[in-house]
Amino acid sequence: MKVLDKSFNLFITSASIQERIAELGQQLALEYTDKNPLMVVMLNGAFMFAADLVRACDFPCEIAFVKAQSYKGMESTGNVELQLGLPASVSGRHVLIVEDIIDSGETLHAFLPYLQSLRPASVDICALLRKPTAAKREIAASYIGFDIPTLFVVGYGLDYDGHGRNLADIYQLDDSVF
Ligand code: 5GP
Ligand code: MG
Repeated sequence: MKVLDKSFNLFITSASIQERIAELGQQLALEYTDKNPLMVVMLNGAFMFAADLVRACDFPCEIAFVKAQSYKGMESTGNVELQLGLPASVSGRHVLIVEDIIDSGETLHAFLPYLQSLRPASVDICALLRKPTAAKREIAASYIGFDIPTLFVVGYGLDYDGHGRNLADIYQLDDSVF
């Protein structure tokens, strides 16, 4: 499979993703039924995961979108600029951050203090993917779809240079090709 100039191999099928999301929905229901959580979706990458996840959540909830652009320069300071903010109504709410992937953890590490400053009742994280061996920051996330090796992935919302977000399956970079 090619996206732009790079070759990718099938990694997680659409069927496995949907199966895991159904489980996450049931797990979330144990915690959030009767809490009317505010699902905070991290754009752009999490848009597809969030659309399927909220349909697997059989309890009342609200959905908001944020866009945080991280600049990972030479120093991994995790500078994050919020390009699209939250509604003011976070105070006292149970917030669940919906993220596509936790890689270094810098993005969420930078975003969490801002979110905490809005005085939510609780904050937790649901990420479809996590790369444990890439972690530079420890991020406490109770809900993880799949732990994966430190490999570049595309599809199901995740892009390579803006492309591949529309793929229903997740693909990993074929690093055997040079
Ligand atoms: P972190 O700040 O945790 O290093 O990175 C989080 C963000 O980097 C993710 O939300 C995602 O947008 C991007 N990212 C990290 N790893 C990958 C990957 O393997 N593929 C793609 N397409 N994006 C990634
Ligand atoms: Mg992202």
